[in-house]
Amino acid sequence: MQITEIRESAVRLESKLRNAAFSFDEMTTSIVAVKTDVVRKGTPVVGYAFNSTGRYACGAQIRDRLAPRVIKAQSAGNLSIDPAEFDPQAILAAMMVGEKPGGDMERSVGIGTVEVAIWDAVAKISGLPAYQLIADRYRGGAVSPDVFCYVGGGWYLPGKGIPQLLDEVQRYLDWGYTLIKIKVGGVPLEEDIARIEAVLKVLGDPKRLALDANCGIGPDRRTAYAQAIKPYGLRWFEEPAHPVDYRGNADFIEAYGGAVATGENLFSVEDVVNLARYGGMRPGLDIIQCDTPQSYGIGTLARMLAALQPMGWSAKDVLPHGGNMMSLNFAAGFGLGMCEAYPDAFGVFSGYTDDLQLRDGILRVGDWTGFGFERQNDLFGLMQKVG
Ligand SMILES: [Mg+2]
Repeated sequence: MQITEIRESAVRLESKLRNAAFSFDEMTTSIVAVKTDVVRKGTPVVGYAFNSTGRYACGAQIRDRLAPRVIKAQSAGNLSIDPAEFDPQAILAAMMVGEKPGGDMERSVGIGTVEVAIWDAVAKISGLPAYQLIADRYRGGAVSPDVFCYVGGGWYLPGKGIPQLLDEVQRYLDWGYTLIKIKVGGVPLEEDIARIEAVLKVLGDPKRLALDANCGIGPDRRTAYAQAIKPYGLRWFEEPAHPVDYRGNADFIEAYGGAVATGENLFSVEDVVNLARYGGMRPGLDIIQCDTPQSYGIGTLARMLAALQPMGWSAKDVLPHGGNMMSLNFAAGFGLGMCEAYPDAFGVFSGYTDDLQLRDGILRVGDWTGFGFERQNDLFGLMQKVG
């Protein structure tokens, strides 16, 4: 069983959405196709992945260094995609040849996206859903099939006021979601408070509303946000400080008191351990987020969870960033606390399989093979153009 080719193509997200820190006007993502010589149902198996949303495409690294290293390691007998021999650490080691310690972000997105696409291929070769392959490898086969999904929404958009925000929230409720996250920090505090109060009137329970500042609230505004929002008792406040400003995160937690979530912009096991050590984060209350295609892949997520466990963190305290089939499979396979959903924010990259039914915010995973991209018609069509 051989990988015959690894292809990458950059795709524009075509979005005008904005959070507190940046807009998605120019945002691209890399679609990766890992082609194999294994034939199933008359066609060679191809594994796919994309690098989530919010980091630009990373094709140069993949084409120039990472993909050739995978093929070279395979030729040398150091990497196999035979399901019985498949080793995520060998895939990582193959792509890390010649890489200096510490340059994580420049390569972790490319490595993670290729690694996740290889998992898709191996799962398809095994005839298994990716969540089952993950559970077999790391949890003795135990899958958490019912995944609670919350909406990452409430973006800023030119011309979007409170009436349009409430229409958006109502749409999510109509689709069966029960927990909704909206952006904060992109307008003056008083405007954000008006948005929060308007949404709370629709949702009722404050534990059905979370906020995401996307690291866009500077130290000068942070205390005011902590004090103003604390009394509402919301589900969580996300990314109050720069991803590696652990003191800033800890100071915010002290001022705010309620649950805080962060971590989607950390790229290594060491960074995640530092967050747990120095970020003031409280296991069982706060949430550590991960973006697996952007942080070296599934094998590295397993190492992050193992490193966090002796510090009091369980998989339930960890949530995958990004609403897509990859995150859904990670959540079911590792037993993560819940999964983010982007029902309609990023075009064909939005949402889950075309036929999944949501019930009280819960999705039951299906009997797909790999990540199930084949059941997302428009996205899969785009993937097939890559390879
Ligand atoms: Mg976020």
